[in-house]
Amino acid sequence: MPNVQLNVVVVGGGIAGLTAALALRRQRHIVTVVEPSSWLREFGAAVTITPNSSRVLTELGIDLKRDVKAAVFRSAKEYRCTSKDQSFRFGSNGDGRELPWVDRLKAINLLGKFYMAHRVDLHEALKNKCISQDGPGEPVRIVLSSKVVSWHPEGSVKLSDGTEIFGDLIVAADGIRSEAHAIILGHKSPATPSGLDNLRFIVKTEDILNDPTTAPLMDDGPGCFAFYVDPVRKRNLLRYACRNDGMQNFGAYAPTDNADNLIGRQASLAEVSERLSTLPPMFQAIGTKASSIYLWKIGDRKPIPSYTKDKLVLVGDAAHPMWPRQGQGAAQSIEDGGTLGVLMSNLTSKAEVPARLKLYDELRVHRTSIVQLLSRTSEVQDEMMKITRFPDAPLPEEIAVIFRRFGKGSVPANYQEVTGWLWGHDCIKEAQALMASSFLKAQEEMTPLQMHL
Ligand SMILES: Cc1cc2nc3c(=O)[nH]c(=O)nc-3n(C[C@H](O)[C@H](O)[C@H](O)COP(=O)(O)OP(=O)(O)OC[C@H]3O[C@@H](n4cnc5c(N)ncnc54)[C@H](O)[C@@H]3O)c2cc1C
Repeated sequence: MPNVQLNVVVVGGGIAGLTAALALRRQRHIVTVVEPSSWLREFGAAVTITPNSSRVLTELGIDLKRDVKAAVFRSAKEYRCTSKDQSFRFGSNGDGRELPWVDRLKAINLLGKFYMAHRVDLHEALKNKCISQDGPGEPVRIVLSSKVVSWHPEGSVKLSDGTEIFGDLIVAADGIRSEAHAIILGHKSPATPSGLDNLRFIVKTEDILNDPTTAPLMDDGPGCFAFYVDPVRKRNLLRYACRNDGMQNFGAYAPTDNADNLIGRQASLAEVSERLSTLPPMFQAIGTKASSIYLWKIGDRKPIPSYTKDKLVLVGDAAHPMWPRQGQGAAQSIEDGGTLGVLMSNLTSKAEVPARLKLYDELRVHRTSIVQLLSRTSEVQDEMMKITRFPDAPLPEEIAVIFRRFGKGSVPANYQEVTGWLWGHDCIKEAQALMASSFLKAQEEMTPLQMHL
């Protein structure tokens, strides 16, 4: 079918903006990404690429192992300390409690599709695909050192130097502090701090292995996602592999009393040491090897009823900032981009854009609202961990109520069904199906005269 070519402006060059830009380029639209930094580069540690997002990246021509150097998830373990002096035995016969993620993936035939990547590698792969001369569509144009200061849903944005850029579609991918939602809602609803932060750092796997104090940590084998929970359950450390298993990403969560804004910052080795001080001593040794140390503030916003107005659409954290407890912020951003690509295919006129964006709302708002709420509380998380050990146990009311409020279909009966809903979701197929049914509906609604015109 023919596709009318759009001029698309994507505001923000993070994971959400670049995924949307790539998906739209592949539909042969002319795409410009506007980004305030002077060098388009991600920073920070790693990110999980769960199967619901890895299938989108694959569809967009990205090979997770070759292009992103992602590690394949193979096991999940949890260690709970009873005292600060406890020393663990790692490995298959060690003290770790196996978390049932492998079984959950096997049950939906997705073992091997869950990846863990360095953020820089994922971002580079997306950027390279966007600007490559090869592949479907024209290379994406990236305009750096340019900040958007006002949004016009009729099809333009204004930059801080006064320049106005026009588009048939404006994609707001400007992250958790985006103001574009206010244009859609008619009022501001900023993301709010959670009272938690996460000190994230990277350690080379070989540095861990070369030190006899820390080497046993790697007995859990490649592709392991491990939680180390301290005796007072206030400071948790998580670890997972990235960059072909050559690096280990660590994230140390703790309550914070100064999360008065959502602006992260680089942090020091001393802060890592302090943060790990409630865990057994070997973790202090891990902390001395840390690099790329960054303190992330964690926040979210209550679900909002719409992500679109006229030609303006929100994607990623601009639409649905969420806590990282489900590891879904980037994954949902990737789903957004994949969905938008499908919805902007087979256009017969530019005037169809607002109606297509209504379909985006139909597909994305209910799903991402549920993920936002599932990600919200540690109580829910602990509850989920518990019930995953008994896959047939009924869902706690706290979770069921989220699906009843925002879900479209039946409420999942147990956690395996929640997993199928989250990780088994194919947003590309879902968008294609909705497009097909809307097309049929439009044809049915046509009068015989219209059909012959
Ligand atoms: C501690 C932590 C751990 C996480 N772990 C995971 C995980 O394991 N798995 C997962 O899926 N997700 C995870 N997430 C979430 C994930 O990192 C985010 O959801 C995702 O990166 C959002 O991408 P984004 O492109 O929407 O936003 P961002 O990455 O914030 O990008 C926004 C971009 O917009 C630009 N911008 C901002 N303002 C303007 C403007 N006015 N004009 C033009 N450009 C602008 C910025 O410069 C930036 O480049 C985690 C988040 C945190 C805090």
